[in-house]
Amino acid sequence: MSLQNVGRATRSEYEGPALAPEGRLGKGLLQDEPLIFERGRFDMTGVDFDLEGETLDESDLAGLTRASPPALPGLSEPETVRHYVRLSQRNHAIDLALYPLGSCTMKHNPRLNERMARLAGFADLHPLQPISTVQGALQVMDELAHWLKTLTGMPAVALSPKAGAHGELCGLLAIRAALVARGDARTTVLTPSSAHGTNPATAALAGYQVQEIAQTADGRVDLGDLAAKLGPHVAAIMVTNPNTCGLFERDILEIARLTHAAGAFFYGDGANFNALVGRVRPADLGVDAMHINLHKTFSTPHGGGGPGAGPVVLSAELAPFAPTPFVVHGPNGLELVEETHGEAAQTLGRLCAFHGQMGMYVRALAYMMSHGADGLRQVAEDAVLNANYIKARLSGVMSAPFAEGPCMHEALFDETWLEGTGVTTLDFAKAMIDAGFHPMTMYFPLVVKGAMLIEPTETESRRELDRFCDALLELAAAAKAGDVDRFKSAPRHAPLARLDETQAARKPRLKWTPAET
Ligand SMILES: *Cc1c(COP(=O)(O)O)cnc(C)c1O
Repeated sequence: MSLQNVGRATRSEYEGPALAPEGRLGKGLLQDEPLIFERGRFDMTGVDFDLEGETLDESDLAGLTRASPPALPGLSEPETVRHYVRLSQRNHAIDLALYPLGSCTMKHNPRLNERMARLAGFADLHPLQPISTVQGALQVMDELAHWLKTLTGMPAVALSPKAGAHGELCGLLAIRAALVARGDARTTVLTPSSAHGTNPATAALAGYQVQEIAQTADGRVDLGDLAAKLGPHVAAIMVTNPNTCGLFERDILEIARLTHAAGAFFYGDGANFNALVGRVRPADLGVDAMHINLHKTFSTPHGGGGPGAGPVVLSAELAPFAPTPFVVHGPNGLELVEETHGEAAQTLGRLCAFHGQMGMYVRALAYMMSHGADGLRQVAEDAVLNANYIKARLSGVMSAPFAEGPCMHEALFDETWLEGTGVTTLDFAKAMIDAGFHPMTMYFPLVVKGAMLIEPTETESRRELDRFCDALLELAAAAKAGDVDRFKSAPRHAPLARLDETQAARKPRLKWTPAET
């Protein structure tokens, strides 16, 4: 069989429209972009291999030879590039403008990090290379681990989890393993009512029942409720500090003390570490395990579902259960421990195929080293300062549920100030798009009605913060003045208007089905 026949389908072999209906092509310069399957043609390819005379020995494929060609769309190279560039332009990005999503820490991704990650010695590595040829990469991992342990005050770190939520899973599985090893399997994990959705989801995935801890009127963990719910059945509590209302948990030491006295572990959700980095070490707050989202605090890109990293720092008690593989110093340099044996064999095993995301490790370490310890402390201070600047500028008009005192790294508003205007948080957020700004996080945390959670991060200038606040104040004045239509019909200038978010979440269409021809 000729290789050329393997890769191509023809129109007659695959039913589907060869080209998108012309009517869908651009208005102005905004392209309404069809799927690549709709744009491509199945009878052509963008690449030509000269395979004349080449034959494929079918026995090499162990019976896996294709019977029919795959239905892959064919486009020329410029058509392919333009398709993806047009798609990319329909996304908001931190490189386009301020991205005020609360809880997400959408800070600038320094170009220095990108330069470092693209060095051939990192970018071209293969995870199965002989260890002697990847000593530099292992050194980066070791150095990154050192920074993470130093900044958190924790003795161990598992680097391989690929996101915050994956780190939560790693942490809870380590806690479960430690309890089982103690002969004290427990059933329940406690999470505050303001917790990020991944916390209860992780606890459920790790096999625990989830019980909610109530919140006080000033937005913190209710100590009385925590004490009442702790008991010999509780494996762990999961607490974010500063919490998702942007408030420092003032009673954090007491929370840790009560938890440990009940024989439970304290899982810290480190997503908001940007407010504390260089200022507070989570170990000093009593944390036993905490994930760190490198794409939040340490400026690596929040890839569009792409590779990420959510390392988990662990206490000495939890460290033996850390997943493989991990880096150790051996007699011949750095080594990657793939399996553990004998006494040490308490590891969880693998959480992913290899060691984790090298590109993110390099970027995060470049960020840490370029800032230094003092620079990282200033990151936290400036992030908090910027959020308080926004809180101060908007508080006269927009209502803050926890108005008293300063906030940490994010400013939280609610919907109370919109009462009687006919405008909701959703309408307001959509109108922000028309004003040229990406909306803030909406309706989260769930404990605040119509929540608007704004996190500017430290990487915005005062001028940009003022532009943002001016735009919000202008919108607020319009809402108060009764210009409801402007809000209900927003966004008018986005390529797509209001999507059916419920259907999108419940019935996502993940597969392209060719139209009947
Ligand atoms: C972002 C976030 C998470 C989850 O992290 P991912 O990296 O998105 O998986 C967990 N908790 C809080 C509070 C967060 O903001």
